[in-house]
Amino acid sequence: MTIISSEGTQIEIGLLSASSLSKVLASYSGNNIIIVVDENTHDLCLDYLVNSFPVLSKSEIILLPKGEDNKVMEVCMQVWNAFSEYGFGRNDLVLNLGGGVVTDMGGFLASIFKRGMDFIHIPTSLLAMVDAAIGGKNGIDLGPYKNQLGTIIKAKMVFIDTSFLKTLPEKEFYNAYAEMLKYGLVHDQHLFNELTDFKTEDDFNRQDIIERCVQIKVNISDRDLLEKGERKLLNFGHTFGHAIEGYKLNSDPISHGHAVGIGMFAESYVSMKRGLLSKNEFHRIQAVLIKTYPFMAFSEQCIQEIISIMYNDKKNECGKIYTVLLEAIGKGVYHNEVSEEEIREALLHISFLHESLNL
Ligand code: NAD
Repeated sequence: MTIISSEGTQIEIGLLSASSLSKVLASYSGNNIIIVVDENTHDLCLDYLVNSFPVLSKSEIILLPKGEDNKVMEVCMQVWNAFSEYGFGRNDLVLNLGGGVVTDMGGFLASIFKRGMDFIHIPTSLLAMVDAAIGGKNGIDLGPYKNQLGTIIKAKMVFIDTSFLKTLPEKEFYNAYAEMLKYGLVHDQHLFNELTDFKTEDDFNRQDIIERCVQIKVNISDRDLLEKGERKLLNFGHTFGHAIEGYKLNSDPISHGHAVGIGMFAESYVSMKRGLLSKNEFHRIQAVLIKTYPFMAFSEQCIQEIISIMYNDKKNECGKIYTVLLEAIGKGVYHNEVSEEEIREALLHISFLHESLNL
């Protein structure tokens, strides 16, 4: 069992049955334990958890509809009404068993209800293991704007058990891969080099790589929980990525990882155009992203809509769009104002590459 301590929380990585979860559950005996799942983790992950800890067979199950489009206030209201009807209180415990949608939303549900219940994350997707379940950000979307409503409160504990990955669909590994590449690009060139050598599905199950990603997120988010400075680095790829994801949400949704992959390309392109990032390193980044995440074409109208979504980005200041750029592979820099012209140029370049690749 690997234990990573983070301020106010503990992360255990290894088999659930060997973790300290049973001790934690014992400390809530006499209280309600509520397990939040989505439709997939209900069917594919819940049995493993309950079989490992039979005491959980008496838990209340809150079943969320799956998918990002359900990470919304309407669903939260239904759950809070259910919490009230069941008479849940502040001393009860919420266990969030699922991917990033469940951990983000379950953390939000728990941290708001009665001004805050304890909650624990048991991430079941690779993305939630390496990113969403770590660092205390909980939240939901507001229309096309991602994660606009939320809290920054850490889970009491996080238990990461890669056994859950056995049932995770292949495309979800590539979702996580974008965030893992992000850690390498902004912080750790050696991690980036190792990730670019990933070839088989087994590579994604590597606990040592998961641990390195978790440690990077813990170190950065512990130093800057409220994202006043260094934590902004973890938004690399997300200024473009969130806007593209939000733009596509109602017509032709794409995964978060896919959007972040394209976003990282766009932000690397802006870095290279500004002369911050060498052409050589830019081409190394391009080679990985272009083979992993399908590029797409952006019409002038679509670029305008993406820019207008970017004007609502949480990271903006004084009505200006800010983004993370790269000085080198492994060295991100935050707080860079980006102009509409640079955004347009990057999106047109992606369209150009998409068209030339599909000729
Ligand atoms: P997700 O929770 O929707 O999971 C992806 C799919 O995999 C879903 O259909 C889910 O039901 C399924 N799934 C999960 N675990 C499974 C398993 N073991 N077996 C089979 N199916 C399984 O999405 P995600 O990619 O895990 O997370 C994306 C979300 O995370 C986004 O909402 C994003 O905003 C959020 N996020 C949050 C943070 C943060 O710091 N809070 C960081 C990154 C991403």
